[in-house]
Amino acid sequence: MTQPLNILIIGLGLIGASFGKAIRHQGLAERSVFVLGYDRSQGVAEQAVALGVLDQAVSDLAWLPKIDVVVMAVPVMAIGTVIDDIRPLLGSLQALTDVGSVKGQVVRTVRERLGTLPACFVPGHPIAGAEQSGVTAAKADLFEHHMHILTPLPESDPAAVQLITQLWQAIGADVVEMSVERHDEVLAATSHLPHLLAFSLVDTLARESENREIFKYAAGGFRDFSRIAASDPTMWHDIFLSNKDATLKVLRRFQADLTILEQAIEHDDGDLLQTVFTRAKSARDQFTQMLAERQKN
Ligand code: NAP
Repeated sequence: MTQPLNILIIGLGLIGASFGKAIRHQGLAERSVFVLGYDRSQGVAEQAVALGVLDQAVSDLAWLPKIDVVVMAVPVMAIGTVIDDIRPLLGSLQALTDVGSVKGQVVRTVRERLGTLPACFVPGHPIAGAEQSGVTAAKADLFEHHMHILTPLPESDPAAVQLITQLWQAIGADVVEMSVERHDEVLAATSHLPHLLAFSLVDTLARESENREIFKYAAGGFRDFSRIAASDPTMWHDIFLSNKDATLKVLRRFQADLTILEQAIEHDDGDLLQTVFTRAKSARDQFTQMLAERQKN
């Protein structure tokens, strides 16, 4: 009988634990899976077993059965420590992947730590998430109908890319591939910048002396726009410092456009406001349609 595929998840927060729950639930068509998990916080791996996230908790990475796949689901700046921890496993792995929201920094860290990029390494990033963190936030359907971006490297073994693709497809993700550089540019614009704006606006308003009064009267627009400001500060600290160049580039472009709007308001330039808002509405309507179509497929 074929041995199960042994998958080790390192970091059992929202993303790692959701992946574990989902892959245990869905399995792979051609082979059974056995999911092990490790977290630096004591008791989290045992809690993950109780929550149905894992088959087995790992308390010491020095004592492991043969592992086939490692999923690094830790904040971007913790990747270096994880690479040091799993160095003895690397020679026998079929695939190594991560879920970090920034890809360039993760690839640089792996190369710096190992002096090379191992053929089993296939960086990845699920375009799904939530403001909650930790093992108790795990959801088996978190990745269903969501994109999973893989950024295979010239060094990546095609068999490793195929295996990681199969695992994410098995849990309902729509796997796409792009370069590391393109990933970091696209995500700076569509995810990192909006989070920065939400954090900044909520902070500005919260520091006003009468902030309770302001929040009391805030309506749906503020609620929708500010939702992502409840995201994990450590994770976002890591993301902005790791994707500096791409974020600064899009932030400066946005600041220039914002200044144009500021001047239009100051000089009663209604035509300009009308033009910008109409263009933005049409782009948002198209996006809404795209999302609806993705949900249908
Ligand atoms: P999370 O809920 O905070 O979980 C991370 C877990 O990893 C925590 O339990 C943390 O322990 C543990 N950890 C940290 N360093 C470790 C180490 N060296 N060894 C073992 N465990 C370690 O974070 P998350 O939201 O799942 O995010 C994980 C990764 O997914 C990040 O790289 C993030 O960029 C990416 N991502 C997140 C989202 C999202 O919406 N949340 C979406 C897409 C991608 P402590 O609690 O002790 O720190």
